[in-house]
Amino acid sequence: MPHSFPFLTPEQKKELSDIAHKIVAPGKGILAADESTGSVAKRFQSINTENTEENRRLYRQLLFTADKEVDNCIGGVILFHETLYQKADSGKTFAQVIKERGWVVGIKVDKGVVPLAGTNGETTTQGLDGLYERMAQYKKDGCDFAKWRCVLKITPTTPSSLAIKENANVLARYASICQMHGIVPIVEPEILPDGDHDLKKTQYVTEKVLAAMYKALSDHHVYLEGTLLKPNMVTAGHSCSHKYTNQEIAMSTVTALRRTVPPAVPGITFLSGGQSEEEASINLNAMNMCPLKRPWAITFSYGRALQASALKAWSGKKENSKACQDEFIKRAHANSKASTGKYVSAGAGAATDESLFVANHAY
Ligand code: 13P
Repeated sequence: MPHSFPFLTPEQKKELSDIAHKIVAPGKGILAADESTGSVAKRFQSINTENTEENRRLYRQLLFTADKEVDNCIGGVILFHETLYQKADSGKTFAQVIKERGWVVGIKVDKGVVPLAGTNGETTTQGLDGLYERMAQYKKDGCDFAKWRCVLKITPTTPSSLAIKENANVLARYASICQMHGIVPIVEPEILPDGDHDLKKTQYVTEKVLAAMYKALSDHHVYLEGTLLKPNMVTAGHSCSHKYTNQEIAMSTVTALRRTVPPAVPGITFLSGGQSEEEASINLNAMNMCPLKRPWAITFSYGRALQASALKAWSGKKENSKACQDEFIKRAHANSKASTGKYVSAGAGAATDESLFVANHAY
């Protein structure tokens, strides 16, 4: 039996739990704006915009300075390292701009996926070296939460038990380092939607991955009340021929979560994983309407599904600034409503129905 040497004081626990609850307060979710420079390159390519530091700053500034009507829709923003140290035209750092809106500043701290030897193309996530020191600095520089993404794949031979165990452990190790510095860890064990498997298969794998991860978090003495989970929704593989309803997706997802995520966790903040903007809102809404009891807040931490229309409207042109912000505000409102089960879909056929799927997605 392991001995417990508590590493957090009651004050530290309260700080962590307060931050986590603030991020997922009713009607709020997370803007994931932490695309690495390489991921931005792909996004900007789609709108014929050069991937320069200044263009990245200009685009992110539009999101962070959108009209105050989004204040009640966003609880936190995840930044990439470069963005944390960039400034708005006003001279204020983005961290200051975000904080002044009452949003919590978050930082992506993992350094991406690397091959896991001896597996069929599986990966682990690197970035633990020096993380203790980096976290101390990030806290000083205004960050109160962090994100670390691990990736698992569904194929006939994966995820292997090695990949499940290794990724669970690295997420737990990262989470404990975060908490030592007063930073709320978002743990993200993303199961990619690539493949032709059915809904049941994704549900089964999601349950196994989440169960292993919460065992690892317990082994590492992580204080669950001061964490957030960022999972995939349980959907069938992207090339599965059978199309499931939003209600079926919601039931499978909430069932998997109820079987594996302790009620002590304050919130579940989904990634959008290549779903269209509209699909991501409708599925989130369906989860918040589903008849199963849910002891955690269920909300969004979307990248693509909050930004796709905004990015397109901007297209790298100053004169499109307002159009870009208007699109962002629309999605923020839609997802805020969906996080309380009150979203009414605008109907099919809109641009927001376009799939945002990218095979073997990196972030
Ligand atoms: P998507 O919503 O684009 O899947 O990304 C969210 C994210 O932060 C993935 O790590």
